Amino acid sequence: MLILRGGRVVDPRTGTERVADVAVDGGTVVAVAPAIAAEGALAGAAEVDVTGLVVGPGFVDLHSHVHSIAGQRLQALDGVTATLDLEAGLMPVEKAYARAAADGRLLHYGFSASWGDARAAAHLGLTPDADLNASLRMLGDPAWQRTSTPNERRHWLRLLESELEAGALGVGVLMGYAPRSDPEEFLDVARLAAATGTATFTHVREIVEADPTTPIDGSFEITRAAAETGASMHHCHVNSTSRRHIDRVLGQLEAARAGGSRVTVEAYPYGAGSTAIGAFFLAPERLGAWGLTPASISMVGTGERIASIERLAELRATDPGAVCVVRFLDEEDPEDAAMLQRALAFPDSIVASDAMHVEWKDGSTDSREWPLPSGGQTHPRTAGTFARSLRRMVVETGTWTWAEAFRRCSYLPAQVVAGFAPAVRTKGWLGIGADADLVVIDPATISDRATYVDPTRPSVGVRHLLVDGQFVVRDGELDVEAFPGRAIRAALG
Ligand SMILES: [Zn+2]
Repeated sequence: MLILRGGRVVDPRTGTERVADVAVDGGTVVAVAPAIAAEGALAGAAEVDVTGLVVGPGFVDLHSHVHSIAGQRLQALDGVTATLDLEAGLMPVEKAYARAAADGRLLHYGFSASWGDARAAAHLGLTPDADLNASLRMLGDPAWQRTSTPNERRHWLRLLESELEAGALGVGVLMGYAPRSDPEEFLDVARLAAATGTATFTHVREIVEADPTTPIDGSFEITRAAAETGASMHHCHVNSTSRRHIDRVLGQLEAARAGGSRVTVEAYPYGAGSTAIGAFFLAPERLGAWGLTPASISMVGTGERIASIERLAELRATDPGAVCVVRFLDEEDPEDAAMLQRALAFPDSIVASDAMHVEWKDGSTDSREWPLPSGGQTHPRTAGTFARSLRRMVVETGTWTWAEAFRRCSYLPAQVVAGFAPAVRTKGWLGIGADADLVVIDPATISDRATYVDPTRPSVGVRHLLVDGQFVVRDGELDVEAFPGRAIRAALG
């Protein structure tokens, strides 16, 4: 039992903020009130003074590819209590869940059904192994990228359906990596999501401004499918796929939502993306459409900044799954920075990190050492997305109240999956009966510290983090013995 004394308690579900105590018994919040007495069931409860600090529900990250203890530790210090890989997913999910459980996780975790891996099974005869790196390698394969035959489409739809039955959290659709494929395929995925009461999480295909020859505008494809099928459809990282066309895309999403479509959207506050070097949209002939050059791309593993078209082609051929960082907006440029700000400020826009695993020079992607061994590379969004969003949107500009910030970081993302993931219904809000997944933030110091040069510097200002009622961060220090993370699965109705 534990009582957090005297914090500014924020509940995004009711939009309230008040000074109060929070009592936790096991993994559940049992009282939220001023001056809770440590008697009766709470006799002997440990007490922590959190006067002046902000107490809210831990952040639910809908878009995290970390799949590692090292990555989750960086996210814990960024305020996250649940890391879900819903955009890419892993297949088979049974294996992904078993591996995470055996390995130990400090934060809750979950995975969607991987449309990419299901297609790889149908097109290439590959047996998926719940391995994101293997999936990244395959995305550059033209045989994976092409339109499926009717038989292949039936095959991967069956695979996706059985993954949903096994507990996958909706379907992750990396459409931007197969952007010439028949739009009918996407409608079939949307129908599957509608029929199972789940959702889709899409990295959209090229938007029409960047590729006038695209079979369908990537963002329009989402709104059309949502309108036609009634499915719940989530638009991943609208900042990175819309770039300087953000206002047009957001306007389209707004119109779809006003029309009753179940479209949700997320953004992260960085002007660079990160993906596999073999991705369709990083082909030398595609860069010009976005005003990019090879020098806009750096390799994460080696730090190499790509010097020429020839070198880009070589890397794509020899190591298509290698992870790179792509600068698409200039964060120092006021106009570009304002665009990123608008992506976050959009009504109901969810904060999601697109966190990537940390990679060391020897090729390893996890470590139990803490602090992390030096030299680890990743995109700074892995460690800094949430603290940076709070710093910019709450502390520096006052665009969001704390209640609004927790609505964007905790409540709304939980709601996206709560309809089909019962475990999430008690997450993302703070009241009696809520899960004790709590973050305690120092509003005076909250800030990201990760940079493109030094991307594994943890955020500061997360004073305490409780997962399932256990301290993962206490007094700003990570507890390296704590592994309270649990699986979050779908349960089809
Ligand atoms: Zn993506």
